[in-house]
Amino acid sequence: MQGKDPVAALQARAFMKPSPSSVYLDHSATTPVWPEVMAAMQPYFGEMYGNPSSLHASGRKAYAGLQDARQRIARCLGASASEIIFTSGGTESDNAALRGIAWARRNDTGARRLVSSPVEHHAVLHTLEDMAESQGFALDLLPVNAAGRVHPPDLESVLDEDVALVSVMSANNEIGTVQPVAALGALCQARGVPFHTDAVQALCKMPMRVDELGVDALSASAHKFHGPKGVGFLYLRTGTPFRPLLLGGGHEGRRRAGTENVPLICGMAAAMDRNLAEAAAEWPRQRALRDRLMAGVLAGVEGAYLTGDPRQRLPHHASFILPGLEAEAFLIALDMAGILASSGSACTSGAQQPSHVLSAVGIAPPDSYGALRFSLGRGTAAADIEYALAQLQRIAAQLRAAGAPRAA
Ligand code: PLP
Repeated sequence: MQGKDPVAALQARAFMKPSPSSVYLDHSATTPVWPEVMAAMQPYFGEMYGNPSSLHASGRKAYAGLQDARQRIARCLGASASEIIFTSGGTESDNAALRGIAWARRNDTGARRLVSSPVEHHAVLHTLEDMAESQGFALDLLPVNAAGRVHPPDLESVLDEDVALVSVMSANNEIGTVQPVAALGALCQARGVPFHTDAVQALCKMPMRVDELGVDALSASAHKFHGPKGVGFLYLRTGTPFRPLLLGGGHEGRRRAGTENVPLICGMAAAMDRNLAEAAAEWPRQRALRDRLMAGVLAGVEGAYLTGDPRQRLPHHASFILPGLEAEAFLIALDMAGILASSGSACTSGAQQPSHVLSAVGIAPPDSYGALRFSLGRGTAAADIEYALAQLQRIAAQLRAAGAPRAA
């Protein structure tokens, strides 16, 4: 590699699939970092390495990059720059929002009930459960329908002055269902209850303007939209009660201590800008390919049925149950055919436990063992979908013929 420009080499590799012939259909787990995202980060690993809190020239350049990224991200959401708090990713943003808002609300008003849904990501559910177990909060989980959707009147019926916080995700990682966030936000606003949404899967896949959604807090993670891993942000509406999770220096307006990761933050802003610039063409393109995949699986794989809402769902996301088949065996066979997919969320695949999301929508073992998720992306072509469909049909038939053993 001697003599080669390392950034050019990195950029050339950015669009490489895991192997030249593979079809990557796992964008809900993570996405490849775009070349211009790498280019946006590179100067801050190099000559602009200063600490953004330093007053000297190098620090001022880093600070300028940080503030530019903050403004661009805020603009994408229709927010003010001061409402963006940089974090280490979706999990931290969720923890900071839930704990930070609920602690402050309880201090201010005595409110101690937390309201959420049973289909949230574990970054939300486990945090809320911990607050209920060890910090004196009470947790109410709203019912969801068979597609995993919350019904706004169910929220209305539990909202009162004892509710410290409501948190309902924008879209589900396992089954793709989009929640009626704007309707839930309007109810919370009318009652003066802070409303948080985990938008880790939804951001850059559907319109997300904080005023239209009526959210007070919104969590995001860059690696889901072609940015780097280990960086994200929390949108926090001005005036929302908040106590910081991380204490230390006065970074991020005293709301999140710790020197900001300037390169990754600048990469995240570049990724968000490009996603939104391409959205008008890309969202319908991916939706059409996804619809073809959905129709092909439902028609061509015996017994297959869709999980999640058929219409109110992320445009790039398809998830199924293949009854009588075991997802792990299916995924290995798909991998051998060069197709990279998932059995649900990246966090629970391999965990050998029934998914809490599928349980909440009434899909129990043995059916839930046959759950597969395919999530398309910018690099997915029509030929990839046709290839995936042919392989899905072949593998389903082969596993059935072999009497595919199911995990105990
Ligand atoms: N929330 C949702 C809905 C997710 O899908 C994920 C990751 O898959 C997270 C939170 C956690 O994000 P991160 O990986 O950035 O910690």
